[in-house]
Amino acid sequence: MGNRRGVKVFDLIVAGAGIVGAACADAATAEGLRVAIVEPAVIGGGATAAAMGHLVALDDDPAELALARYSLELWEEFAELPEVQFSRCGTLWIARSERERDGIAAKIARLGAVGVAAGMVDENELYRLEPALAPGLAGGMHVPSDAVVYPPNVARLMIERACGRGAQLYTGRRVCALEAGTVVLDDRSSLSGPVLIATGCALTELLPMLPVRARKGHLVITERYRDFVKRQLVELGYADSVHGGEDASVAFNLQPRPTGQILIGSSREFGTTSSEVSMSTVRRMLVRAFEFLPGLRRLQAVRIWTGFRPSSIDGRPYLGPVPERRDVWVAAGHEGLGITTALGSARLLLDQLLARKSAIDPAPYLPARAFG
Ligand SMILES: Cc1cc2nc3c(=O)[nH]c(=O)nc-3n(C[C@H](O)[C@H](O)[C@H](O)COP(=O)(O)OP(=O)(O)OC[C@H]3O[C@@H](n4cnc5c(N)ncnc54)[C@H](O)[C@@H]3O)c2cc1C
Repeated sequence: MGNRRGVKVFDLIVAGAGIVGAACADAATAEGLRVAIVEPAVIGGGATAAAMGHLVALDDDPAELALARYSLELWEEFAELPEVQFSRCGTLWIARSERERDGIAAKIARLGAVGVAAGMVDENELYRLEPALAPGLAGGMHVPSDAVVYPPNVARLMIERACGRGAQLYTGRRVCALEAGTVVLDDRSSLSGPVLIATGCALTELLPMLPVRARKGHLVITERYRDFVKRQLVELGYADSVHGGEDASVAFNLQPRPTGQILIGSSREFGTTSSEVSMSTVRRMLVRAFEFLPGLRRLQAVRIWTGFRPSSIDGRPYLGPVPERRDVWVAAGHEGLGITTALGSARLLLDQLLARKSAIDPAPYLPARAFG
């Protein structure tokens, strides 16, 4: 940190300490940059705390898959850190119909093309892997390398690492204005230097030209039932819920936590800013889950919560410089994949900031696309 006429000067001011801002602060300090982090609330307490923490290679969009694949590689560094609660449980994608099963070969090819191994699972194998599944399912696809983590702990760990390398943390402070080369906080103090806006769903408060819509989700968690299921289980129809234009949708997505608890999702809903639990949505979600795992009915739920996914115009995050704004950068809009893709996002951002080539093509994520 430097000092210019009483204003502290940084190489990068990170607004927002969710998993994305935390990953950027961690990566920037690892490069030797002088970093400030501004977070008005709890570190990792926004969408990051609400997430399932599934690290998953989704193949629906080639750009999204490239970023997920790159990030999954980077997650390996965290696999042995106890606080991260990394568990390589893999994902078992479940087909309900022959039509869904017929699409699996193409999915395996798309994943294989970027080096993610996935295997076709026939009916017998499906029930051998997960005996609790309902009878009559058509098979599936197994991706053994997918994993789960505990996202708020990861955000805290990365902020601690950044601070250990000299980053200045301003908690309880909000960035409220961006002026030429300066960031104004809500206590009227200023910080000077390039700024990275990583404020998730609050992005448009500072950068109204980059649309982000909050997409509400519900999750339910149970008591501990060890070995009820062993893998993250997701219906193959999940992508329809992610990409569908429906205002509200549910899909079966269930995760065995390392604690033995079962985390049950998921719902997606635009057009609401209320964080209240909607029991009718939870009921829809659970009815869907019971269709795949009838034994779930016997388990005791202990908590339900909601969160908001920051959804960009096309589901891909905005990563890079903000057009027509000198020294303003953005890393936000990761929708339902921001835990998986936070690490790769941070690398792409840092590469652009330091004007060097990235491991993957950064073009699909440039904020300029929102400017038409
Ligand atoms: C129900 C649910 C389940 C999910 N499951 C998964 C999953 O299994 N796998 C996956 O990969 N992703 C998942 N996601 C998506 C993931 O949680 C998000 O994409 C990710 O957390 C976004 O991180 P972020 O840092 O951009 O946002 P946030 O975590 O919301 O962080 C933004 C931060 O910015 C701060 N902030 C706001 N305004 C300002 C300001 N003016 N100045 C400074 N700071 C500010 C906020 O306080 C907040 O801490 C899920 C999301 C939800 C809601």
